[in-house]
Amino acid sequence: MAKEKAVFVCQNCGYISPKWVGKCSNCNSWNSFIEEMQSVEPKGLKSKTQATAGNAIKISEIRRREITRIKLPYDEFNRVLGGGLVPGSLVLLGGEPGIGKSTLVLQTVLNLKDQKVLYVSGEESENQIKLRAERIGIKNDNCYIYTETNIEKIIATIKSIEPQIIIIDSVQTVASADLTSSPGTVSQVRECTRLLQEYAKEFEIPVILIGHINKDGDIAGPMSLEHIVDAVFQFEGDNNHYYRLLRPKKNRFGSTYEIGVFEMQNYGLKEITDPGNILLTGENTGLSGVAYGTIGEGSRTLMIEIQSLIGNSVYSSPQRTSTGFDSRRFQMILAVIEKRLGLNLSQKDAFVNIAGGIKVSDTAADLAVLASVVSSYYDKPLPENTCFVGELGLSGQIRPVSFIDKRVSEANRLGFTNVFISAAQKSELDKKTSGVIPVSDVRDFAAKLFRKGN
Ligand SMILES: [Zn+2]
Repeated sequence: MAKEKAVFVCQNCGYISPKWVGKCSNCNSWNSFIEEMQSVEPKGLKSKTQATAGNAIKISEIRRREITRIKLPYDEFNRVLGGGLVPGSLVLLGGEPGIGKSTLVLQTVLNLKDQKVLYVSGEESENQIKLRAERIGIKNDNCYIYTETNIEKIIATIKSIEPQIIIIDSVQTVASADLTSSPGTVSQVRECTRLLQEYAKEFEIPVILIGHINKDGDIAGPMSLEHIVDAVFQFEGDNNHYYRLLRPKKNRFGSTYEIGVFEMQNYGLKEITDPGNILLTGENTGLSGVAYGTIGEGSRTLMIEIQSLIGNSVYSSPQRTSTGFDSRRFQMILAVIEKRLGLNLSQKDAFVNIAGGIKVSDTAADLAVLASVVSSYYDKPLPENTCFVGELGLSGQIRPVSFIDKRVSEANRLGFTNVFISAAQKSELDKKTSGVIPVSDVRDFAAKLFRKGN
Protein backbone atom coordinates (compact mmCIF):
# COMPACT_ATOMS: atom_id res chain seq x y z
CA MET A 1 0.00 0.00 0.00
CA ALA A 2 1.45 3.33 -0.99
CA LYS A 3 1.86 5.87 1.77
CA GLU A 4 1.36 9.59 1.33
CA LYS A 5 3.73 12.34 2.35
CA ALA A 6 3.54 16.10 2.10
CA VAL A 7 5.83 17.75 -0.41
CA PHE A 8 5.97 21.22 -1.94
CA VAL A 9 5.43 21.39 -5.68
CA CYS A 10 6.25 24.33 -7.92
CA GLN A 11 2.96 25.20 -9.65
CA ASN A 12 4.84 26.51 -12.60
CA CYS A 13 7.20 23.70 -13.55
CA GLY A 14 6.33 20.81 -11.26
CA TYR A 15 9.65 20.82 -9.40
CA ILE A 16 9.34 19.06 -6.04
CA SER A 17 10.97 20.31 -2.86
CA PRO A 18 10.77 18.61 0.56
CA LYS A 19 10.30 21.98 2.24
CA TRP A 20 8.71 25.28 1.29
CA VAL A 21 10.96 27.66 -0.61
CA GLY A 22 10.21 31.16 -1.90
CA LYS A 23 11.94 30.81 -5.25
CA CYS A 24 11.98 27.77 -7.50
CA SER A 25 15.54 26.71 -8.26
CA ASN A 26 14.39 25.03 -11.44
CA CYS A 27 12.33 27.70 -13.20
CA ASN A 28 13.15 30.78 -11.07
CA SER A 29 9.52 31.66 -10.39
CA TRP A 30 8.63 33.21 -7.06
CA ASN A 31 6.03 32.01 -4.55
CA SER A 32 5.07 29.14 -6.78
CA PHE A 33 5.24 26.34 -4.20
CA ILE A 34 2.09 24.72 -2.83
CA GLU A 35 1.92 21.82 -0.41
CA GLU A 36 0.64 18.66 -2.04
CA MET A 37 0.34 15.05 -0.96
CA GLN A 38 2.40 12.57 -2.86
CA SER A 39 2.26 8.82 -2.64
CA VAL A 40 5.52 7.11 -1.77
CA GLU A 41 6.14 3.61 -3.03
CA PRO A 42 7.71 1.49 -0.29
CA LYS A 43 11.34 0.85 -1.18
CA GLY A 44 12.73 -2.60 -1.85
CA LEU A 45 9.69 -3.86 -3.72
CA LYS A 46 11.15 -3.26 -7.17
CA SER A 47 11.19 -6.36 -9.28
CA LYS A 48 14.58 -8.00 -9.52
CA THR A 49 13.53 -10.51 -12.19
CA GLN A 50 15.36 -10.28 -15.50
CA ALA A 51 13.47 -8.56 -18.28
CA THR A 52 13.22 -10.40 -21.57
CA ALA A 53 14.76 -8.86 -24.65
CA GLY A 54 12.50 -6.70 -26.78
CA ASN A 55 12.23 -6.41 -30.56
CA ALA A 56 14.19 -3.67 -32.30
CA ILE A 57 13.24 -3.11 -35.90
CA LYS A 58 15.19 -1.69 -38.83
CA ILE A 59 14.00 1.77 -39.82
CA SER A 60 13.76 0.66 -43.43
CA GLU A 61 11.33 -2.06 -42.41
CA ILE A 62 8.98 0.14 -40.46
CA ARG A 63 5.71 0.61 -42.27
CA ARG A 64 4.55 4.17 -42.01
CA ARG A 65 0.95 4.47 -40.99
CA GLU A 66 -1.01 7.23 -42.66
CA ILE A 67 -2.69 9.52 -40.16
CA THR A 68 -6.28 10.30 -41.01
CA ARG A 69 -6.92 13.62 -39.42
CA ILE A 70 -10.32 14.84 -38.36
CA LYS A 71 -11.01 17.97 -40.38
CA LEU A 72 -12.49 20.74 -38.29
CA PRO A 73 -15.01 23.14 -39.83
CA TYR A 74 -12.58 26.06 -39.65
CA ASP A 75 -9.58 26.20 -41.97
CA GLU A 76 -7.90 28.65 -39.60
CA PHE A 77 -8.01 25.97 -36.91
CA ASN A 78 -6.99 23.13 -39.25
CA ARG A 79 -3.98 25.00 -40.55
CA VAL A 80 -2.65 25.66 -37.07
CA LEU A 81 -3.17 22.00 -36.15
CA GLY A 82 -1.18 20.96 -39.22
CA GLY A 83 -4.20 19.80 -41.24
CA GLY A 84 -6.76 18.72 -38.64
CA LEU A 85 -7.08 16.87 -35.34
CA VAL A 86 -4.93 13.76 -35.03
CA PRO A 87 -6.77 10.75 -33.51
CA GLY A 88 -5.40 9.90 -30.07
CA SER A 89 -3.72 13.26 -29.63
CA LEU A 90 -3.98 15.60 -26.65
CA VAL A 91 -4.31 19.25 -27.54
CA LEU A 92 -4.02 21.94 -24.91
CA LEU A 93 -5.73 25.24 -25.71
CA GLY A 94 -4.61 28.03 -23.38
CA GLY A 95 -5.68 31.62 -23.04
CA GLU A 96 -6.76 34.26 -20.59
CA PRO A 97 -10.18 33.88 -18.99
CA GLY A 98 -12.90 35.44 -21.14
CA ILE A 99 -10.86 35.52 -24.34
CA GLY A 100 -13.20 33.06 -26.10
CA LYS A 101 -11.57 29.63 -25.74
CA SER A 102 -14.82 27.89 -24.80
CA THR A 103 -16.69 29.69 -27.59
CA LEU A 104 -14.08 28.65 -30.15
CA VAL A 105 -14.20 25.01 -29.11
CA LEU A 106 -17.97 24.78 -28.65
CA GLN A 107 -18.58 26.48 -31.98
CA THR A 108 -16.11 24.13 -33.67
CA VAL A 109 -17.68 20.95 -32.30
CA LEU A 110 -21.25 22.15 -32.94
CA ASN A 111 -20.31 22.48 -36.59
CA LEU A 112 -18.90 18.95 -36.67
CA LYS A 113 -22.16 17.16 -37.32
CA ASP A 114 -20.79 13.76 -38.27
CA GLN A 115 -18.71 13.31 -35.10
CA LYS A 116 -20.01 12.33 -31.68
CA VAL A 117 -18.58 14.84 -29.23
CA LEU A 118 -18.49 14.85 -25.44
CA TYR A 119 -18.03 18.33 -24.01
CA VAL A 120 -17.15 18.08 -20.32
CA SER A 121 -17.52 21.33 -18.43
CA GLY A 122 -16.39 22.04 -14.91
CA GLU A 123 -16.74 25.75 -15.53
CA GLU A 124 -20.31 26.30 -16.64
CA SER A 125 -23.72 24.74 -16.03
CA GLU A 126 -25.64 22.88 -18.74
CA ASN A 127 -27.92 25.87 -18.97
CA GLN A 128 -25.07 28.31 -19.56
CA ILE A 129 -23.64 26.10 -22.28
CA LYS A 130 -27.08 25.78 -23.88
CA LEU A 131 -27.40 29.58 -23.92
CA ARG A 132 -23.97 29.89 -25.47
CA ALA A 133 -24.88 27.32 -28.12
CA GLU A 134 -28.12 29.19 -28.87
CA ARG A 135 -26.18 32.41 -29.28
CA ILE A 136 -23.83 30.67 -31.68
CA GLY A 137 -26.98 29.49 -33.44
CA ILE A 138 -25.92 26.05 -34.65
CA LYS A 139 -28.07 22.99 -34.00
CA ASN A 140 -26.34 19.69 -33.37
CA ASP A 141 -27.73 16.32 -32.35
CA ASN A 142 -24.43 14.63 -31.78
CA CYS A 143 -22.87 16.83 -29.09
CA TYR A 144 -23.18 15.68 -25.48
CA ILE A 145 -22.68 18.06 -22.56
CA TYR A 146 -21.56 16.72 -19.20
CA THR A 147 -20.94 18.97 -16.22
CA GLU A 148 -18.59 17.19 -13.85
CA THR A 149 -15.20 17.71 -12.27
CA ASN A 150 -14.40 14.22 -10.95
CA ILE A 151 -12.04 12.66 -13.48
CA GLU A 152 -12.94 9.07 -12.56
CA LYS A 153 -16.62 9.79 -13.26
CA ILE A 154 -15.64 11.62 -16.44
CA ILE A 155 -13.63 8.64 -17.70
CA ALA A 156 -16.50 6.29 -16.86
CA THR A 157 -18.91 8.51 -18.78
CA ILE A 158 -16.53 8.69 -21.72
CA LYS A 159 -16.44 4.88 -21.75
CA SER A 160 -20.22 4.64 -21.79
CA ILE A 161 -20.88 7.37 -24.39
CA GLU A 162 -17.88 6.48 -26.60
CA PRO A 163 -17.43 9.91 -28.17
CA GLN A 164 -15.18 10.52 -31.18
CA ILE A 165 -13.87 13.79 -29.75
CA ILE A 166 -13.52 14.78 -26.09
CA ILE A 167 -13.40 18.35 -24.76
CA ILE A 168 -12.37 19.15 -21.19
CA ASP A 169 -13.27 22.70 -20.11
CA SER A 170 -11.09 23.35 -18.17
CA VAL A 171 -8.19 21.14 -17.18
CA GLN A 172 -7.85 23.20 -13.99
CA THR A 173 -11.31 22.27 -12.74
CA VAL A 174 -11.05 18.49 -13.01
CA ALA A 175 -9.61 16.44 -10.16
CA SER A 176 -8.95 12.86 -9.19
CA ALA A 177 -10.47 11.57 -5.97
CA ASP A 178 -7.27 9.54 -5.45
CA LEU A 179 -5.26 12.69 -4.77
CA THR A 180 -5.74 14.99 -1.82
CA SER A 181 -4.41 18.10 -3.58
CA SER A 182 -6.97 20.63 -4.73
CA PRO A 183 -8.04 21.00 -8.40
CA GLY A 184 -5.70 23.10 -10.50
CA THR A 185 -2.55 22.05 -8.67
CA VAL A 186 0.28 20.50 -10.65
CA SER A 187 -0.32 16.97 -9.32
CA GLN A 188 -4.04 17.11 -10.15
CA VAL A 189 -3.63 18.66 -13.58
CA ARG A 190 -0.93 16.13 -14.42
CA GLU A 191 -2.80 13.11 -13.10
CA CYS A 192 -6.06 14.00 -14.87
CA THR A 193 -4.20 14.65 -18.11
CA ARG A 194 -2.41 11.31 -17.75
CA LEU A 195 -5.71 9.45 -17.28
CA LEU A 196 -7.25 11.15 -20.30
CA GLN A 197 -4.15 10.43 -22.32
CA GLU A 198 -4.33 6.72 -21.51
CA TYR A 199 -7.86 6.65 -22.83
CA ALA A 200 -7.03 8.82 -25.84
CA LYS A 201 -4.12 6.65 -26.93
CA GLU A 202 -5.93 3.36 -26.36
CA PHE A 203 -9.07 4.31 -28.28
CA GLU A 204 -7.43 6.78 -30.67
CA ILE A 205 -9.75 9.59 -29.67
CA PRO A 206 -8.51 13.19 -29.73
CA VAL A 207 -8.89 15.24 -26.55
CA ILE A 208 -8.93 19.03 -26.44
CA LEU A 209 -8.03 20.41 -23.03
CA ILE A 210 -8.91 24.01 -22.31
CA GLY A 211 -6.55 25.71 -19.83
CA HIS A 212 -6.53 29.15 -18.27
CA ILE A 213 -3.28 31.02 -18.21
CA ASN A 214 -1.94 32.94 -15.25
CA LYS A 215 -0.79 36.55 -15.21
CA ASP A 216 2.61 35.61 -16.61
CA GLY A 217 0.98 34.09 -19.64
CA ASP A 218 1.58 30.49 -18.62
CA ILE A 219 -0.96 27.71 -18.33
CA ALA A 220 -1.02 26.51 -14.70
CA GLY A 221 1.63 23.88 -14.32
CA PRO A 222 2.56 24.65 -17.90
CA MET A 223 5.96 23.08 -18.25
CA SER A 224 4.84 19.86 -16.62
CA LEU A 225 1.76 19.72 -18.86
CA GLU A 226 3.49 20.78 -22.04
CA HIS A 227 5.66 17.66 -21.92
CA ILE A 228 2.63 15.38 -21.68
CA VAL A 229 0.38 16.80 -24.39
CA ASP A 230 1.02 16.61 -28.12
CA ALA A 231 0.20 20.19 -28.98
CA VAL A 232 -0.15 23.48 -27.13
CA PHE A 233 -2.01 26.42 -28.60
CA GLN A 234 -2.43 29.87 -27.20
CA PHE A 235 -5.59 31.85 -27.94
CA GLU A 236 -4.56 35.50 -27.78
CA GLY A 237 -6.08 38.91 -28.11
CA ASP A 238 -7.38 41.46 -25.72
CA ASN A 239 -10.80 42.29 -24.47
CA ASN A 240 -10.78 45.73 -26.10
CA HIS A 241 -10.22 44.32 -29.55
CA TYR A 242 -12.13 41.95 -31.75
CA TYR A 243 -9.27 39.97 -33.20
CA ARG A 244 -8.05 36.69 -31.76
CA LEU A 245 -4.94 34.81 -32.80
CA LEU A 246 -4.56 31.07 -32.39
CA ARG A 247 -0.85 30.48 -32.03
CA PRO A 248 0.95 27.14 -31.61
CA LYS A 249 3.62 26.83 -28.92
CA LYS A 250 4.25 23.16 -29.52
CA ASN A 251 2.92 20.80 -32.17
CA ARG A 252 4.03 17.20 -32.58
CA PHE A 253 1.93 16.89 -35.73
CA GLY A 254 2.59 20.16 -37.51
CA SER A 255 4.68 23.31 -37.52
CA THR A 256 4.58 25.93 -34.79
CA TYR A 257 4.89 28.56 -37.42
CA GLU A 258 1.31 29.11 -38.56
CA ILE A 259 -1.33 31.22 -36.86
CA GLY A 260 -5.11 31.20 -37.10
CA VAL A 261 -7.02 34.47 -37.11
CA PHE A 262 -10.56 34.94 -35.82
CA GLU A 263 -12.81 37.88 -35.15
CA MET A 264 -15.08 37.99 -32.10
CA GLN A 265 -18.63 38.87 -33.10
CA ASN A 266 -21.90 38.99 -31.19
CA TYR A 267 -22.80 35.40 -31.95
CA GLY A 268 -19.29 33.95 -31.64
CA LEU A 269 -16.12 33.80 -33.66
CA LYS A 270 -15.69 34.32 -37.37
CA GLU A 271 -12.58 33.09 -39.12
CA ILE A 272 -10.56 35.65 -41.05
CA THR A 273 -8.94 34.07 -44.07
CA ASP A 274 -7.43 37.31 -45.40
CA PRO A 275 -6.02 39.05 -42.31
CA GLY A 276 -3.46 41.35 -44.00
CA ASN A 277 -4.95 44.63 -42.83
CA ILE A 278 -7.00 43.65 -39.77
CA LEU A 279 -4.64 45.42 -37.39
CA LEU A 280 -4.88 48.78 -39.11
CA THR A 281 -7.32 51.18 -37.47
CA GLY A 282 -7.69 53.44 -40.50
CA GLU A 283 -8.35 56.29 -38.07
CA ASN A 284 -4.94 57.84 -37.73
CA THR A 285 -3.81 58.54 -41.29
CA GLY A 286 -2.11 61.91 -41.57
CA LEU A 287 -1.27 62.20 -37.86
CA SER A 288 2.28 62.59 -36.63
CA GLY A 289 3.78 59.64 -34.79
CA VAL A 290 1.87 57.06 -36.81
CA ALA A 291 3.82 54.59 -38.95
CA TYR A 292 3.00 51.34 -40.71
CA GLY A 293 5.10 48.21 -40.78
CA THR A 294 4.75 44.49 -41.39
CA ILE A 295 5.09 41.41 -39.23
CA GLY A 296 5.49 37.89 -40.50
CA GLU A 297 3.16 35.39 -38.86
CA GLY A 298 3.77 31.96 -40.31
CA SER A 299 3.02 31.98 -43.99
CA ARG A 300 1.24 35.31 -43.68
CA THR A 301 2.16 38.94 -43.52
CA LEU A 302 0.15 41.29 -41.35
CA MET A 303 0.34 45.07 -41.59
CA ILE A 304 0.75 46.80 -38.25
CA GLU A 305 0.09 50.33 -37.13
CA ILE A 306 2.52 51.91 -34.69
CA GLN A 307 1.80 55.02 -32.68
CA SER A 308 4.54 56.91 -30.87
CA LEU A 309 4.42 59.95 -28.68
CA ILE A 310 7.52 61.93 -27.82
CA GLY A 311 6.98 64.77 -25.37
CA ASN A 312 8.88 66.91 -22.88
CA SER A 313 9.32 65.13 -19.61
CA VAL A 314 8.34 66.67 -16.30
CA TYR A 315 10.33 64.09 -14.38
CA SER A 316 14.05 63.95 -13.82
CA SER A 317 14.15 60.53 -15.40
CA PRO A 318 11.92 60.49 -18.47
CA GLN A 319 9.33 57.76 -18.99
CA ARG A 320 9.75 54.99 -21.53
CA THR A 321 6.58 53.01 -22.08
CA SER A 322 5.86 50.44 -24.73
CA THR A 323 2.66 48.50 -25.32
CA GLY A 324 2.80 45.50 -27.62
CA PHE A 325 6.49 46.02 -28.36
CA ASP A 326 9.51 44.75 -26.42
CA SER A 327 10.54 47.54 -24.05
CA ARG A 328 14.27 46.81 -24.25
CA ARG A 329 14.14 46.86 -28.02
CA PHE A 330 12.29 50.19 -27.85
CA GLN A 331 15.05 51.62 -25.62
CA MET A 332 17.63 50.37 -28.10
CA ILE A 333 15.83 52.09 -30.99
CA LEU A 334 15.66 55.34 -28.99
CA ALA A 335 19.38 55.09 -28.23
CA VAL A 336 20.19 54.56 -31.91
CA ILE A 337 18.05 57.57 -32.88
CA GLU A 338 19.79 59.70 -30.28
CA LYS A 339 23.29 58.62 -31.20
CA ARG A 340 23.06 58.25 -34.97
CA LEU A 341 20.49 60.91 -35.86
CA GLY A 342 21.44 63.37 -33.14
CA LEU A 343 17.89 63.80 -31.82
CA ASN A 344 17.95 64.71 -28.15
CA LEU A 345 15.57 62.27 -26.47
CA SER A 346 17.18 62.23 -23.03
CA GLN A 347 14.72 64.80 -21.62
CA LYS A 348 11.72 63.41 -23.50
CA ASP A 349 9.08 60.94 -22.47
CA ALA A 350 8.68 58.27 -25.12
CA PHE A 351 5.64 56.05 -25.63
CA VAL A 352 5.03 53.45 -28.29
CA ASN A 353 1.88 51.46 -28.89
CA ILE A 354 1.02 48.76 -31.40
CA ALA A 355 -2.62 49.09 -32.48
CA GLY A 356 -4.91 46.09 -32.33
CA GLY A 357 -3.74 44.70 -29.00
CA ILE A 358 -1.13 42.32 -30.36
CA LYS A 359 2.42 41.72 -29.22
CA VAL A 360 5.08 42.22 -31.83
CA SER A 361 8.29 40.21 -31.62
CA ASP A 362 9.31 40.50 -35.26
CA THR A 363 12.39 42.72 -35.54
CA ALA A 364 11.26 43.75 -39.03
CA ALA A 365 9.06 46.27 -37.19
CA ASP A 366 12.13 48.22 -35.95
CA LEU A 367 12.23 50.61 -38.86
CA ALA A 368 8.53 51.42 -38.51
CA VAL A 369 8.98 52.12 -34.78
CA LEU A 370 11.94 54.36 -35.59
CA ALA A 371 9.92 56.20 -38.24
CA SER A 372 7.02 56.78 -35.85
CA VAL A 373 9.35 58.15 -33.15
CA VAL A 374 11.06 60.52 -35.60
CA SER A 375 7.65 61.64 -36.91
CA SER A 376 6.39 62.38 -33.40
CA TYR A 377 9.61 64.14 -32.43
CA TYR A 378 9.26 66.62 -35.30
CA ASP A 379 5.45 66.52 -35.05
CA LYS A 380 5.32 65.88 -38.78
CA PRO A 381 3.13 63.17 -40.30
CA LEU A 382 4.94 60.56 -42.37
CA PRO A 383 4.29 60.50 -46.12
CA GLU A 384 1.00 58.86 -47.07
CA ASN A 385 0.71 55.21 -48.15
CA THR A 386 4.17 54.48 -46.86
CA CYS A 387 5.36 51.51 -44.88
CA PHE A 388 8.66 50.60 -43.26
CA VAL A 389 10.28 47.18 -43.22
CA GLY A 390 13.69 46.62 -41.68
CA GLU A 391 15.64 45.57 -38.65
CA LEU A 392 17.80 48.14 -36.90
CA GLY A 393 21.42 47.45 -35.98
CA LEU A 394 23.21 49.17 -33.10
CA SER A 395 25.44 51.10 -35.46
CA GLY A 396 22.37 52.45 -37.25
CA GLN A 397 22.40 50.16 -40.28
CA ILE A 398 19.07 48.94 -41.66
CA ARG A 399 19.38 45.17 -41.83
CA PRO A 400 17.65 42.58 -43.99
CA VAL A 401 14.54 40.75 -42.78
CA SER A 402 13.00 37.41 -43.71
CA PHE A 403 10.44 37.06 -46.53
CA ILE A 404 11.01 40.58 -47.82
CA ASP A 405 9.34 39.74 -51.10
CA LYS A 406 6.16 38.64 -49.41
CA ARG A 407 6.08 41.64 -47.11
CA VAL A 408 6.51 44.13 -49.94
CA SER A 409 3.92 42.38 -52.14
CA GLU A 410 1.40 42.38 -49.29
CA ALA A 411 2.08 46.06 -48.55
CA ASN A 412 1.60 46.88 -52.25
CA ARG A 413 -1.58 44.83 -52.39
CA LEU A 414 -3.01 46.76 -49.44
CA GLY A 415 -2.28 50.13 -51.04
CA PHE A 416 1.16 51.03 -49.68
CA THR A 417 2.87 52.59 -52.67
CA ASN A 418 6.15 53.45 -50.86
CA VAL A 419 7.98 50.74 -48.99
CA PHE A 420 11.26 51.47 -47.22
CA ILE A 421 13.50 48.39 -47.03
CA SER A 422 17.13 47.51 -46.35
CA ALA A 423 19.35 48.39 -49.31
CA ALA A 424 20.92 44.95 -48.92
CA GLN A 425 17.66 43.31 -50.02
CA LYS A 426 16.82 45.22 -53.16
CA SER A 427 18.04 42.43 -55.42
CA GLU A 428 15.88 39.83 -53.65
CA LEU A 429 12.67 41.46 -54.76
CA ASP A 430 10.24 40.22 -57.33
CA LYS A 431 9.80 42.46 -60.36
CA LYS A 432 6.11 42.75 -59.59
CA THR A 433 6.70 44.73 -56.41
CA SER A 434 6.70 48.51 -56.69
CA GLY A 435 7.53 51.69 -54.82
CA VAL A 436 10.52 50.23 -53.00
CA ILE A 437 12.91 52.72 -51.40
CA PRO A 438 16.18 51.01 -50.33
CA VAL A 439 18.01 52.56 -47.40
CA SER A 440 21.37 51.53 -45.95
CA ASP A 441 21.39 53.19 -42.53
CA VAL A 442 19.37 55.60 -40.40
CA ARG A 443 21.00 58.72 -41.85
CA ASP A 444 20.30 57.57 -45.38
CA PHE A 445 16.76 56.76 -44.18
CA ALA A 446 16.18 60.20 -42.62
CA ALA A 447 17.50 61.95 -45.73
CA LYS A 448 15.24 59.95 -48.08
CA LEU A 449 12.22 60.10 -45.75
CA PHE A 450 12.20 63.85 -45.58
CA ARG A 451 13.02 64.30 -49.24
CA LYS A 452 10.15 62.00 -50.06
CA GLY A 453 7.68 63.47 -47.64
CA ASN A 454 7.96 67.05 -46.62
ZN1 LIG B 1 9.48 25.89 -10.84
